[in-house]
Amino acid sequence: MKNKVAFVTGSGQGIGKAIALRLAKDGFSVAVADFNSQTARQVADEIIQAGGKAVAVTVDVSKRDRVFAAVEEARNALGGFDVIVNNAGVAPTTPIEEISAEIVDKVYDINVKGVIWGIQAAVAAFKAEGHGGKIINACSQAGHVGNPELAVYSSSKFAVRGLTQTAARDLAPAGITVNGYCPGIVKTPMWDEIDRQVSRQAGQPAGYGTAEFAKRITLGRLSEPEDVAACVSFLAGPDSNYMTGQSLLIDGGMVFN
Ligand code: NAD
Repeated sequence: MKNKVAFVTGSGQGIGKAIALRLAKDGFSVAVADFNSQTARQVADEIIQAGGKAVAVTVDVSKRDRVFAAVEEARNALGGFDVIVNNAGVAPTTPIEEISAEIVDKVYDINVKGVIWGIQAAVAAFKAEGHGGKIINACSQAGHVGNPELAVYSSSKFAVRGLTQTAARDLAPAGITVNGYCPGIVKTPMWDEIDRQVSRQAGQPAGYGTAEFAKRITLGRLSEPEDVAACVSFLAGPDSNYMTGQSLLIDGGMVFN
């Protein structure tokens, strides 16, 4: 895996951070791309201190030109481009009657358009390098089954699953595979916030939302970010070469298809 370059969005914390650290361990040079330049820097430093190669890149994935510029910056800094992980996402709770135009725009700009811009920028970078590559998108179990109080988020993740399927068909002739990963309930700052909001709306103390969702986990425990990173490691490596268009559930057995 030496001399391969992976670009991971939203990798300053949570699942993206675990993915960046895991891909670095796998031998990738990693572009740690995040809205938050401080956390991106910290994760890149952690990789470098462990003997890996990394660069921190500041990016807002909802802005098409910024995504293209960030991918170019990473390609130049790390000397190649092989894998993009479109991981950045937001997940506000949205009871149906409270959905506003602003929240729909915000979630779709980041979760859906951010993935489209990431796909496009990666295709341009693969072409510039003269080879194919791997595109990996953050979906969710909520992209397979509508989740309560998460209508806007769930629908954005259904969109990511659709994009993954179509991009796989469109990009196969260029030697590009496109897959997704679908986590369940992962212990990250995002989930802590969902728990707070769901618990408050139910008039219950913090932790109530997590306990309700956790009843659906067959393996009986919440997910660590590293559980998801292991799945992405497979999707980024050669063992998944004969797979495209799939959105793999890595949710401890919440959804069975
Ligand atoms: P998180 O909120 O803990 O971290 C998200 C990271 O993305 C942060 O570092 C944030 O700064 C960055 N980010 C947010 N908006 C951005 C933007 N516009 N441009 C660039 N970076 C941006 O989230 P997480 O729990 O690690 O989730 C990561 C991905 O996994 C998301 O796509 C999420 O929808 C998905 N997911 C999470 C869970 C879960 O339970 N945590 C479950 C299923 C799917």
